[in-house]
Amino acid sequence: MSHSAQPEADARVPRISRRTFTTTAATAGMAAAVGLAPAVARAATEPELRAGAGEVSITPPEVSELFLVGPNKMATGVNDPLFARTLVLEYGSTRVAIVTTDLLVVHMHYNDELVAAASRATGIPAEHVVINTQHTHSAPIPRLVAAAQERPESWRDTEYSKWLPEQIAASAKAAVDDLQPAQLRAGRETTQIGMNRRYMTRTHVTMTPNPHGAIVPWVDTLGAYAKSDGKRIAVLFSYAAHPVIIHGTSTLVSGDFPGLAIKRLRHRFSGGTGELDGVFMFAQGCGGNINGHPLRGGIDACSVVGGELAWAVSRTQLADLPSGPVRVASTELELPFQDPPSVAECQKWVDKFPESLPHREVLEIAKRGRVGTLRYPIRAISMGDELCIVTLAHEPFCEYQLFAVEKSPFKHTLVFGYVHGVEQYIATRSAYELGLRGGYEASPHGHALQSKHRLALRPEVEEMIHESTVGVMKQLTG
Ligand SMILES: [Zn+2]
Repeated sequence: MSHSAQPEADARVPRISRRTFTTTAATAGMAAAVGLAPAVARAATEPELRAGAGEVSITPPEVSELFLVGPNKMATGVNDPLFARTLVLEYGSTRVAIVTTDLLVVHMHYNDELVAAASRATGIPAEHVVINTQHTHSAPIPRLVAAAQERPESWRDTEYSKWLPEQIAASAKAAVDDLQPAQLRAGRETTQIGMNRRYMTRTHVTMTPNPHGAIVPWVDTLGAYAKSDGKRIAVLFSYAAHPVIIHGTSTLVSGDFPGLAIKRLRHRFSGGTGELDGVFMFAQGCGGNINGHPLRGGIDACSVVGGELAWAVSRTQLADLPSGPVRVASTELELPFQDPPSVAECQKWVDKFPESLPHREVLEIAKRGRVGTLRYPIRAISMGDELCIVTLAHEPFCEYQLFAVEKSPFKHTLVFGYVHGVEQYIATRSAYELGLRGGYEASPHGHALQSKHRLALRPEVEEMIHESTVGVMKQLTG
């Protein structure tokens, strides 16, 4: 589907969808632990913030039909189930839905189908629905159309892809049905369970843990609690790292460290009984150049790391957020690709690797002499004056998250990557400028060649994304 509310003309100008209301009185800025309820006073005439959450399994009945990228094999069973989870927030007549999914990635057109399904089921406009794929490598990629040309067995995922939109819609619908007056609370806690994975040798970048490289060394948490009795509605937490701790060590389906962190949180907050209020959900941050550590550590290591993340979430001191309007600002960039090598150069590669579809396609692009652009939606969602969630498409490097947080005018800023569809890494200017030495994520011969578009992006995408990230946040502050 297309975002019909977002006209195509002048796509680089940030647009805003906003409804304004009288700002509500701020509540006392008290801090409390994740499980407790705040005391809040609110003027009776003002709209009331409401929140609801829903959780639906997206583990198919026949997991043997799923192809897992981590082990590069078909799944043989389930270690822990996969979920779609939704948090809906409402203020006056404005609603937004934040959906998190235990999936590796979804391409942009398929993301649009999932958004449309959630929108149809809830009446929430498509531009107010954001879907984060957690990038779990022990979970499927629905609708692997491009890759299916090279790996016919992945066509089997098509059945899963037909089933999934209804599950996403059911999770969003459950969240709307759960809407109730709520108090939001947010906080950040230091933790490190990921490691920068780009290590520069004397000649080029390799995928090796780099303790000196950039990371986002914290977990952000947003909690929603019922006004009536203080019960937990949802706890949404976010960290930036590839869920690759199980990766190739198992052919069992798993949510990797996010899934196992949620399992641990559920256990902790239910006192071991499994009976629990509310939904715990995880959103992937800008983890494009970060791996969960240790890479390929196995299920037991993953359980320990999930426990560490769960511990960081449960010790987070959450501050009450003043109630206020829910606002959404959107923009969509067209990011430029680098030019392909010359036709003669591409022909050399095709002669060397005649079976390689990516090389044949790059030759075709070189012959056409015309390279397209990559759609890049950016959105910012604010709730009241203190909280903002920035959503970035594709697989952004963690530097984009650090930048957004540094420039944000909001007290609490969460930044999710892997939203609006994922087809490409979004590296930094300095990484792209390394050219063929730029490693898996940034070199034209790395992931870019294997991706749907076959080409790496130009270095100036960094400034384009920076400018628009600041732009959408600024619009929310009026
Ligand atoms: Zn990745």
